[in-house]
Amino acid sequence: MPRTLRIASLRSGGLVTNYACSSACAHCSYRSHPKRDKAYTTHDRAAANCRKVRQLGCRSMHIGGGEPFLNRTGLLDALEAAREEGMAIEYIETNSSWYRDHESAVALLQEVKQRGCTTLLISIDPYHNAYIPFAKVKGVMAACRTAGISIFPWLMEFYEEINALDDSKTHSLKEYADRYGEDYVATLGQRYSPSMSGRAITTYAPFMPAKPLREVLEQGRTMGQGLLTQTGHFHVDLYGSYLPPGFPGFSLAIEDLGDDLDMSRYPAFAALHDGGLPGFYDLARTRHGFEAGETYHHPRELLDIIARHLVTCAPEAFPDLRPLEYYTSACRPPSA
Ligand code: SF4
Repeated sequence: MPRTLRIASLRSGGLVTNYACSSACAHCSYRSHPKRDKAYTTHDRAAANCRKVRQLGCRSMHIGGGEPFLNRTGLLDALEAAREEGMAIEYIETNSSWYRDHESAVALLQEVKQRGCTTLLISIDPYHNAYIPFAKVKGVMAACRTAGISIFPWLMEFYEEINALDDSKTHSLKEYADRYGEDYVATLGQRYSPSMSGRAITTYAPFMPAKPLREVLEQGRTMGQGLLTQTGHFHVDLYGSYLPPGFPGFSLAIEDLGDDLDMSRYPAFAALHDGGLPGFYDLARTRHGFEAGETYHHPRELLDIIARHLVTCAPEAFPDLRPLEYYTSACRPPSA
């Protein structure tokens, strides 16, 4: 008899409008970049996502991506959909790349405000500055002040470090290391504490000591706990998928939320939920020919390597390892 589990309640999360981005930040847990699928959420998809998570108790969400402002009409439609469904939008995340001039930015932000969103989370850190001139960030901040939109700066502690460089240009992490010290990128990881998934784990694994496979598996033994029970900081995306907190490459069909899940349809979730990283590893080793190396730097690194193996050798067997581009993306992290 198939086992059943259930995601019974949700508290706060994000609506992913798109995965394409104008940036390719080294810490991006979603592995967004300019060559990702250009698809953007529709009004109906955004409404259905809001309706479903609202049924499970979530009353407010943020909007993120990718870069949500890459599709102005789509973003305004998504805001309309959220409002129609009674879903408050706490803030929209943005990297500010869309900024052209003060007038057009204020006009767009006023349209955003008219649709009920009154705060922008504005990225302020060296990862983003490798792709986006700081002058654009300053421009969006100034436009927010004019339009009466609140600024949620993420994170102000980096403002002066970035502002010391030419704000009309981008500056690579190597430039930061040349200016502020060769351990800058490693220290940046400690200061920013990115979620260790996606490009962040690719970027930061080399800074960590290598450990024997057995030790890494043991470290990841509890990784699946809370996979189906955590209620905060989940995401629902433009493809109608639910992404549990901290696992951007794992997806459940949003229509299955709230009901008993047939875990035979979610083999990756089932293995990780039941057996943690050792269970996930055993599934890949015994049934899909995965051969582990001797050492890894972090349980998340091994999780990512195993998941990539599974979607490469048996993509149809793991419909819960999505979006596929998360694993198959050709975009490499920028050199540190
Ligand atoms: S962190 Fe944000 S701005 Fe950077 S690549 Fe990811 S989605 Fe784009």
